[in-house]
Amino acid sequence: MPGYEVIGEEEKKEVLEVLSRKVLFRYGFDDQRQGVFKVKSFEKQFADYCGVKHALAVSSGTAALRVALAALGISPGDEVITQGFTFVATWETILDAGAIPVFAEIDDTLCLDPDDLAGRITPRTKAILPVHMCGSMARIEEIVSVAMKNHIPVIEDTAQSCGGQWKGKALGAFGKMGTFSFDSVKTLTTGEGGMVITNDEDLYTRASEYHDHGHDHNPSVPRGLEKRHFIGVNYRMMELQGALGLAQLKKLDTLILPRQRENKARIREALSRIDQISFRDLPDPAGDTATFLTFFLPTRDKAGAFHKALTQEGAGAIYWYENTWHYYEQWEHLLEGKSLTTTCHPFRDEGGGPRCLYGRDALPKTADLVSRTLSFAVNVYMDDQIPKIVKAIEKAGTVIRH
Ligand SMILES: *Cc1c(COP(=O)(O)O)cnc(C)c1O
Repeated sequence: MPGYEVIGEEEKKEVLEVLSRKVLFRYGFDDQRQGVFKVKSFEKQFADYCGVKHALAVSSGTAALRVALAALGISPGDEVITQGFTFVATWETILDAGAIPVFAEIDDTLCLDPDDLAGRITPRTKAILPVHMCGSMARIEEIVSVAMKNHIPVIEDTAQSCGGQWKGKALGAFGKMGTFSFDSVKTLTTGEGGMVITNDEDLYTRASEYHDHGHDHNPSVPRGLEKRHFIGVNYRMMELQGALGLAQLKKLDTLILPRQRENKARIREALSRIDQISFRDLPDPAGDTATFLTFFLPTRDKAGAFHKALTQEGAGAIYWYENTWHYYEQWEHLLEGKSLTTTCHPFRDEGGGPRCLYGRDALPKTADLVSRTLSFAVNVYMDDQIPKIVKAIEKAGTVIRH
């Protein structure tokens, strides 16, 4: 997830242009900024890149999810279906909106299983939140089709798959809203930052007002005299981040993704020589961002042994099953219903009774898949590492032979 690897003169130039004008705020300061609107330009270019009408830059990928849920009017008690293999932010923000995350299984894409989705829909389901995990895509058309049949909006968490496509259309552009993260380890980085995209003008307006304390953004009055249609908070992006985003976006298709795809192919070749290994299902391989190379072992024991051997050879992969941030069974604070509120909201009601509580064994299919899954993180510059990784793969292959 290597946007930081390609930071160079282009980023410096963009950032210095902001500093030379001394305007860090995205709104106002019209005289001082001399026509430089970095966040606004980044939004425009990002919307064009994704082929959508509107993009709203925000302070993080978490903020993007929170703003999208708010724009859709997600309310206390509503249910939002998501997957049990994702970064914690996906369900944190659902809980933060007062809503209840309902976890569905993943399939061989490692994303929300459309076949499992339908059975989880209830009259209280108000959004479906699939996550394009690990650089690639969900079976997004099928998910959207189930959602549309039930008149439920889809929010695509595209934090890990910026630049990915399904049959030529940008991931994030299939649902009502798409969200992105530009945090310090993502494929495109602004240090911290995120984006919400949509083709729906009303949703865009609500998101934009909500993320800026409810400011109605009336162009005919100064900012200090603007009014509000509803309450909001502050999830704004600032100009330095917008500047970084502009420079990084230019490198996405010209440098970052092509280099990742090359490096991924080289490592994949070594793995494909081990007959017990199978690869994650990519619904459209051409649209893969190649930020990760993800593969399955036939059993959990073999995954553990392969992982251990790689680590001993100094070329460790990611074993998501043990990772405490991305996998359901490892989210002890969710499973134990821990929060800072005196009533243990949102997990318990005011009388202490259960409001939403989660069982460790609720997702057997996800558990089986994740226990057999390993990923290599793919970087832009890996020429020195790849021979070592290939050697480690060959060695690890001998360990699982029997
Ligand atoms: C990184 C990430 C987020 C959150 O983004 P931040 O910018 O770190 O807040 C949300 N969802 C997924 C799947 C992520 O990987």
